[in-house]
Amino acid sequence: SENLARKVVIITGAASGIGEQLAYEYARRGALLSLVDIRKDNLGAVANKARSLGSPNAIIIGADVSKVQDCKQFVDETLNHFGRLDHLVNNAGICRSEAVENVDDVSLVTPIMDVNFWGAVYGTLFAIPHLKSSKGKVVVVASAGGWFPVPLFSIYNASKAAAINFFETLRIELGWAIGITIVNPGGIEMPLSDALIKQSGEEAFIPLETAAECAKAIVESVCRGDMYVTEPSWVKVLYFWKLLFP
Ligand code: NAD
Repeated sequence: SENLARKVVIITGAASGIGEQLAYEYARRGALLSLVDIRKDNLGAVANKARSLGSPNAIIIGADVSKVQDCKQFVDETLNHFGRLDHLVNNAGICRSEAVENVDDVSLVTPIMDVNFWGAVYGTLFAIPHLKSSKGKVVVVASAGGWFPVPLFSIYNASKAAAINFFETLRIELGWAIGITIVNPGGIEMPLSDALIKQSGEEAFIPLETAAECAKAIVESVCRGDMYVTEPSWVKVLYFWKLLFP
């Protein structure tokens, strides 16, 4: 399993949820961190806690991953600061649900595709040369929903399916040079899924694991070089779902 001491790791969406917990997991293993988020308010506190947990250094970068220039900037800043890049964790994401008939471009399709799909693609494209020279790894936090349809989540799930397909293709083209791990969480207890439960008025997403447990599983899998991390209990739901809707 990979030793992360002084490895340089970029985590996008590090201000809350899974991304914040990923920062702590990498910190406990001694990694140098570049923490990226569109919301800078909580990032400083996350960086301080990461240092207290064992990260020799953690920098924070305010960036909108849906903007190609911002992605170039967070990769460049990380390289300028640390001189190398070992892992890029594409975790930033947004979730909105809507019935297919009410889907519109401005409030749903464009923002979700721009953050969840293009955000993961842009950062990865800028990181590839550096990851090739460090024999590094790229991670995408997609979703179990990227594998199967869920009512009201057509666009969110499509954005995750697109991301999964991109990273599968990357593995075929560059898997000999770069490690690629695709993460498919189910429903997790945190702001995003809490909001979904409230929004739907019912337990559309059942909290199955905490963000901390999810982050631990991700870092362990990435260090082992696993291709996928999928929440086991969610896979059972998936099989049940496929029985209902064959
Ligand atoms: P979260 O909302 O707690 O964290 C997401 C972070 O991404 C936030 O800090 C947010 O500010 C940041 N972000 C959003 N848009 C951004 C942008 N344009 N540029 C930079 N940063 C941006 O959510 P989370 O639950 O921790 O989600 C993390 C990832 O896990 C997402 O990709 C999400 O789709 C995925 N996921 C979550 C669940 C779940 O149940 N929570 C399930 C499956 C997949």
